[in-house]
Amino acid sequence: MNLVPQSLLGLLFSEIESALSDAGVLKHHAKALWRAIHRDHAIDLTEIDFLPPLKKWVEAYVGIRKSYFIDAPEQDDEIHSSDGLTRKYLLRLNDGQVIETVLMGYDGRFTACLSSQAGCAMGCVFCATGQMGFVRHLTVGEIVAQIRHVRRMLAQIHPHRRLRNIVLMGMGEPLHNYDSVMKAMDIVSDARGSSISPLKIAISTVGLVPNILRMADENRPYRLAVSLHGSTEEERSALVPTSKKWNLESLIGACRSYCQTTGKRIFFEWTLIAGKNDSPETAERLAALLEGIDSHVNIIPLNPTNGFAGAASESGAEFQKIIRKSGIPCTFRQRRGIDVAAGCGMLKAGRVGLTKRPSVSN
Ligand code: SAH
Ligand code: SF4
Repeated sequence: MNLVPQSLLGLLFSEIESALSDAGVLKHHAKALWRAIHRDHAIDLTEIDFLPPLKKWVEAYVGIRKSYFIDAPEQDDEIHSSDGLTRKYLLRLNDGQVIETVLMGYDGRFTACLSSQAGCAMGCVFCATGQMGFVRHLTVGEIVAQIRHVRRMLAQIHPHRRLRNIVLMGMGEPLHNYDSVMKAMDIVSDARGSSISPLKIAISTVGLVPNILRMADENRPYRLAVSLHGSTEEERSALVPTSKKWNLESLIGACRSYCQTTGKRIFFEWTLIAGKNDSPETAERLAALLEGIDSHVNIIPLNPTNGFAGAASESGAEFQKIIRKSGIPCTFRQRRGIDVAAGCGMLKAGRVGLTKRPSVSN
């Protein structure tokens, strides 16, 4: 029996089965519990009319003994973007930390952008979360809770629409919190529950080499995005301090090995900054660097953040042309939710985007 209360959102289906059978309840009741948690997004399980053996288990272990609980972060605020397609939710965790989760809907497809940590230890100079520093890793339950929250919100806005995509591009570095992120994605991609296809889950990393290799070794089914931003060691480490630890050469080596092992394509994220990484020479070097790697380059226009003086680049079209000419697909990330500070790198609890604005969307 657990002495420390455990989050039911942090358990795999098989672990729920074990929890039930340890208490003498037949395993097949796990399905109803799983469905209540991950399909119906129940908050208070004691209110649900389960079959008697499960009902008793819930009353005893969730209700009375409180051995298990469900993370239900309180929504501190909901901010709508004027584009009508982006909503940012500020979620308050049990210890008072506020994290941000974004729901984006375009072309009829809904995507959740999740946080993996409160703050981030990586310190990228252009990123608001990086400037805030590291606070703590999120638990599996706290990551899964963001999906439940977004799905509940989506059901209110568009009752017949499903959440199909997840990107780990909110606050934090997902591969720094590897075990919890992978387990959370295993839980939300379980076909009996949230059922998000693993192919529609993208994990974005600033380049933690050992964990990129680990993803390949463990044959994780998720898509990998690597935030590159620089074509030489000097260019990159001026923007991404962790490049001093995992340098460009070892990062590209890890990407090459990832592609060979998994046969999968890597998405390379490139935040385009005037005078820093937007010249035609840089584009040529990037194309050469990626030769032989199945890649797709995603250009992200720089979003404004308080602590960074750099400017957005005007040379995106030319940059894109050079990459494409070398045979590498290259697209622009759309600018979403800039007015509510929900764009890439603008998520920083407590500072930006906290003013409640009148909702201007649907
Ligand atoms: N830590 C992970 C995922 C979160 S950041 C990573 O770095 O990949 C998600 C993406 O937003 C990254 O590609 C990051 O480089 C980009 N980003 C950060 N700050 C930005 C800013 N101010 N403007 C545009 N993109 C930014
Ligand atoms: Fe962390 Fe990613 Fe921001 Fe860098 S860009 S500081 S890795 S969240």
